[in-house]
Formats: sequence, structure tokens, C-alpha cells
Amino acid sequence: MSVEPAIRPSDVPETDILACDALVVGGGPAGMEAARVAAKRGHQVVLYEKASWLGGLLPVASMVKHLETLDILTFVKYLETQIKKEGVRIHLKKEVTPEIVRQEKPDVLVLAAGAAYTKFHLPGGDGRKVLTPGGLHQQLKFFLKFFSPTTLEKLTRIWMPVGKTVVVTGGTLHGCELAEFLTKRQRKVTLIHNGPASELGEGMTGDDLMNLWPWMEKKGVVINADVQYREVTDRGLVVTDPDGRERLIEVDNVCTTQDFAPNYEALGRLGQLVPETYNVGSSEKPGLIVDAMREGARVGYAI
Ligand SMILES: Cc1cc2nc3c(=O)[nH]c(=O)nc-3n(C[C@H](O)[C@H](O)[C@H](O)COP(=O)(O)OP(=O)(O)OC[C@H]3O[C@@H](n4cnc5c(N)ncnc54)[C@H](O)[C@@H]3O)c2cc1C
Repeated sequence: MSVEPAIRPSDVPETDILACDALVVGGGPAGMEAARVAAKRGHQVVLYEKASWLGGLLPVASMVKHLETLDILTFVKYLETQIKKEGVRIHLKKEVTPEIVRQEKPDVLVLAAGAAYTKFHLPGGDGRKVLTPGGLHQQLKFFLKFFSPTTLEKLTRIWMPVGKTVVVTGGTLHGCELAEFLTKRQRKVTLIHNGPASELGEGMTGDDLMNLWPWMEKKGVVINADVQYREVTDRGLVVTDPDGRERLIEVDNVCTTQDFAPNYEALGRLGQLVPETYNVGSSEKPGLIVDAMREGARVGYAI
């Protein structure tokens, strides 16, 4: 089945600003689910998304996940269809400002602006070689303005701004998925983790892991747990092994996968304008899609 998920601006009717019951900031799963439930319960809902598509981080996630790409994109399409059916007014390519909140005059403000990126704290960690999730996502989001995620996923097989040899720091869900993604694009990958081996693959399903480890072994992915990251130099990443020995992993790029953080930026900027304000999804507590959906629904029912 071919699913072209990309929700292009032309698909979504834009209407003028009207007074509304609830203003939702962010068109990721948390914002769309809050909007869907609140609208289904009879509220006038308006949703603003600063990107030119709906889905939040999901189009980016879908590209990294490959096999589940179509599932994630179909899910985004489902949410989009439901909020349109429920009459949610949708504004794409519009970042919510205090001015917009004053014009919309909502009774309730739902902030679903997504998580904040954190810094990679290491000497040399802001160097040229280092590719952080924030930087990579920014690049992918730029190209998503022009290509659907399925097309972009194919294009990354031809070109990516990542060197031939890569060390991925962090061996849980995001690190494993990134290592797999890069290996499938002919990068020579070392996956290192600064915690015990028992944490490797944390967040992935047992089924996925049963396939992943033998596959990585076959593809020559080097996996090291219990190492300490020391510094990034212009030759690569210096680590200390469990036996205390220091060594340099010589690579073109160091791809980091540090955790996301809660995001109170929108809350600080907009929260005081509307007495009933909720911060939901990854902007309140970074997590998985299921968490974003649950919290979005919870707020939709609470309004
Ligand atoms: C590579 C990757 C792989 C992942 N894989 C999985 C997985 O396998 N399973 C899983 O469950 N989860 C996965 N996730 C996590 C999942 O993407 C998040 O849980 C989910 O996207 C959080 O939803 P959200 O709605 O809270 O935030 P987001 O999806 O981040 O959406 C927030 C939206 O708010 C918009 N916004 C922000 N500020 C404003 C503003 N002022 N005005 C208007 N709009 C604004 C942003 O543009 C964005 O679209 C993955 C994430 C990544 C990055």
C-alpha cells in the first residue's frame, strides 16, 4: 500500500481568526489528540502548527524507523482526518505568539509544543564533527518542506551530511535506531554506551531486539557498553574503557542521542495570558507517542 502522508499546506483550509474555546499550540500527536477530543466534546477548537505539516516529530521518527514508516505516517493521516472531521480550525506555518493568543481569545490554552533539545556536555562537544539530535532534526525538517518523508527517506540512501565512519553515543532506543539507519546507508558505525550492557536496546521491543543484535553483528557494527565519553577531538571521540584504558575512536562524525528535556518556553511566554493553560505531551514530559496521546486525550476530556 502506498501512503503519501505529507500533509501539504494546500490540503488544509485556513480560515480567519474567530473567537474559540480552546487554542492548541502544536500539531504533534499530543496537540492533535487534545484538539480531537475537545472538538468531539463540542468545543470550538483552533490548532496552530509552526511547521508546514502536521505530525510534529513523527515524520522525522518515521524516516529513521524505515519498516514502520508507513504505520506512523498512516497514524498521522488518521489524526489529521479526525480533527478535520471534528471541525478543528487548522493554521499551518504559524508560530503562536502572544498577539495570536490575544486575537483568538481562548478560554483554554493547550501547549503541546514538543520537547526541548539538550546539549551534549563534553569537551569538544560543540565541535564540527558532532551531530546532535537537534541539528539533525533541523536539517530533516528543512527538507520536509520540499519532500514527503517517504521520498526523503529514499534520498538519504543517496546522500546525507554524515561521514563514512560514525560513532553513535547512547545505546538505548534512539541510539540503536540511529545506528541501524546509518548502517543501512553504508556508514561504518560504532555504537557506544556509557552505562551497563543491560541497558543496550532499552525502549525497544523484545522482537525488534532479537532481530537487531544478530543483524548488527552481521553488518560489523561495533557495540561497546560501560565506556566513559571523555572528549571530542578533530580526529574522533576519546573514551575510557571499563578496564580504565583511554583510547581514541577515529571517525568522521560523532552522532549523539542524549535525552530530551521538558520545554517550558511556550508556557513562560504564553501561559500567563490565559488562566486555564495546560502543558501536555513531550513539552511537559518527553516520552513516546503513547504518552503524548494519553496526555492529549486527558486534557481534551478535562476542558
Ligand atoms: C528519531 C525519533 C524516533 C522516535 N521513535 C519513536 C518510536 O518508535 N515510538 C514512539 O512512541 N515514539 C518515538 N519517538 C518519540 C515521538 O516522536 C514523540 O513521543 C512525539 O512526537 C511527542 O509528541 P508531542 O505532540 O508531544 O510533540 P511533537 O511531536 O514534538 O510536536 C510538537 C509540535 O509543536 C510545534 N510547535 C512548537 N512550538 C510551536 C509554536 N509556538 N507555535 C506553533 N507550533 C509549535 C512543533 O513544530 C511540533 O510540530 C521518536 C522520536 C524521534 C525524534
